[in-house]
Amino acid sequence: MALLDITVLGHPILRRETQLVTQMTPELRQLATDMFDTMYAARGIGLAAPQVNRSERLCVVDVEKQPMVLINPRIVARSGKVSGDEGCLSIPEIYAEVQRAAQVRVEALDVDMNPIVVEGAGLLSRCLQHEIDHLHGKLFLDHLSILKKRAALRDWDEERDQYPDLLRRLTPEVLAAMQAEDEEGDAGPESPVPHQG
Ligand code: ZN
Repeated sequence: MALLDITVLGHPILRRETQLVTQMTPELRQLATDMFDTMYAARGIGLAAPQVNRSERLCVVDVEKQPMVLINPRIVARSGKVSGDEGCLSIPEIYAEVQRAAQVRVEALDVDMNPIVVEGAGLLSRCLQHEIDHLHGKLFLDHLSILKKRAALRDWDEERDQYPDLLRRLTPEVLAAMQAEDEEGDAGPESPVPHQG
């Protein structure tokens, strides 16, 4: 299992457009595997290539035990509107309510470069939109009002000192601390971590 470092807000790659994947390679397959490992270790439900310092148009998603690799994904239809709490593995500890389309249809290629269509509602819809945003240099904060975005960035200022080189490393110590937090798990209404991708 290989855990990758996660880029955090301020890292330039998070703001860059990604490049279409034209060919599957063993290296890219390994990247997808490592991204799943990293996402699960960080307690996320989605992870996009720029979040691991890569520029391919590729993301992984696992909502309700349905792991998917999405290559060159595109939203081809959207409907409805819904608000919900969102977080991002690249902006740890910051959460905000974000309005998204309630349902989306996404066309992509799978890890064998076969065309697939994913119809998403609920959390899957939110996660797909969040990850596809990442592939175009966009973050969930960009969906907030100016005032709410400013407040989130102020909170982030207090967090970012922990990441002097703008990388979040899932070291054994970090993983152990997350495990301990999980086990503490007061099952109150605040407990379920909102979507993190
Ligand atoms: Zn994210």
